[in-house]
Amino acid sequence: MPTIIHARYTLRGGAAVEDLAIAVDGDAIVDAGTSAELFARYPGADRVGGDDFILVPAFTNAHDHGRGVGTLALEVPDNFLELWLGRLAHLPSIPPYLAALYSGLKLLGSGVTAVAHSHNPSSWSELPDEIPEALRGYAEAGIRVAMHPPIVDQNQLVYAERELFLDMLPPELRRRAGDGNAIDFSVDNYFALLEDLYINFHDSERHRAHIQASPAGGQWCSDELIIRACEWARARHSRVQVHMLETRYQRIYAHKTWGVSFIRHLEDIGALGDWLTLAHMVWVEDDDIELLAERGVGVAHNISSNLRLRSGIAPIAMMAAAGVSVGIGLDGQTLDDDQDFLREMRLAWTIGNQSGMAATDLDAETVWRMGTGVAADITFGADVLLGELEVGGLADLILLDLAAIAGRWAPASYPPRELLPAFLLRRGQRDHVRHVMVGGEWVLRDGKHAHVDLRDVEREIWQRVAFAARSQPSRLDAYLREFYRRWDDGELPMPRR
Ligand SMILES: [Zn+2]
Repeated sequence: MPTIIHARYTLRGGAAVEDLAIAVDGDAIVDAGTSAELFARYPGADRVGGDDFILVPAFTNAHDHGRGVGTLALEVPDNFLELWLGRLAHLPSIPPYLAALYSGLKLLGSGVTAVAHSHNPSSWSELPDEIPEALRGYAEAGIRVAMHPPIVDQNQLVYAERELFLDMLPPELRRRAGDGNAIDFSVDNYFALLEDLYINFHDSERHRAHIQASPAGGQWCSDELIIRACEWARARHSRVQVHMLETRYQRIYAHKTWGVSFIRHLEDIGALGDWLTLAHMVWVEDDDIELLAERGVGVAHNISSNLRLRSGIAPIAMMAAAGVSVGIGLDGQTLDDDQDFLREMRLAWTIGNQSGMAATDLDAETVWRMGTGVAADITFGADVLLGELEVGGLADLILLDLAAIAGRWAPASYPPRELLPAFLLRRGQRDHVRHVMVGGEWVLRDGKHAHVDLRDVEREIWQRVAFAARSQPSRLDAYLREFYRRWDDGELPMPRR
């Protein structure tokens, strides 16, 4: 017997429909119609929802790291990415099961039922044990995950001109920085691990977990590594996710290295295709946007993170207008450090609409799709039916508290249906998420998880956080800053973003 979910308004494909009910059976949506139609068709079925609710597809967080606790709380303050990354190496370690469980619970509370997890190993040699543990944490939370075990094989210290940088350093720093290039995990080991994980955990039936390749960042990975990752994923109908063009220095790196843009170079080596998702893309060049659309490349937009790490603002209105699939990701770095997905959509929408009458519009419906259907497409692939509330699709959905959003004394005609997507984007926040369903199961009812107490997990995490040594600003920072500042003096025209 199916469950019928009904609401005053339902958001479908970014637009609001009045009195649309859906029937869920097993893990899928099996029918849709007015509530009267579905009540008549399935007498005796469970009914959830009603006029006090807005029914929306659940969100997909298209790029994150599942650290559990924010980096600032772990004593690494926000900074330029190139300086911030150096201190991330000293983050206190949290057991990966607990970090993933806690991350999953917080995301579910925000209406997110699927996450792309880019793993940060606490040590490379532990990577083969950490990934299954993180998968177990997400499974316990009841959230879908696209798992990205990372790999890098070059440019760990600086993106390019390593000798030049080393020459800037005083002798004793130079000695310590000199071996900053090595990780003790070979590319061959990586693909053996990936294959093993794929065989054991990739779920192509219920899509609870996907195993995907992740050369961690364009500048940190050789062409051979990126090509091999694409080949691996294509042969298995999986995907590849790469951090790309997050900072201006990554754009300059491409021009210094190949004399062309990063995206042109990826095209030259055959890496661009609908199997690929690029995270950040703040510094994508306008001329390359058409090419991304043609090749079907996905982009994960991380507006808060890009602001907090002083990277800039990605041109998402232009990308969306050109037909690039742009999805939203939290990157574990939301503006208020609370993994609030609705607020992240609000920020993406507000800042995505830039000044000047010539600017491309970014409408509310488009931003809704960036958080739901498109985010799901670029995370699991377009053939996994998620994020649209269509019949035949997976039943991942949220009921939002309409009265809490509209205000208790608002007239019945408020908000007007046509303005609902904009209204929700402007006012919605995680506290408005009441019920969350993942694959036909209620994981959250009235904001409470079905079988895990968030506070217990939070308490356990804080008991287990191991601050080995307080992270200190590195003496390298001043030299790194000066080194990259010189890159700005180059002849490349750099727009402000
Ligand atoms: Zn990231």
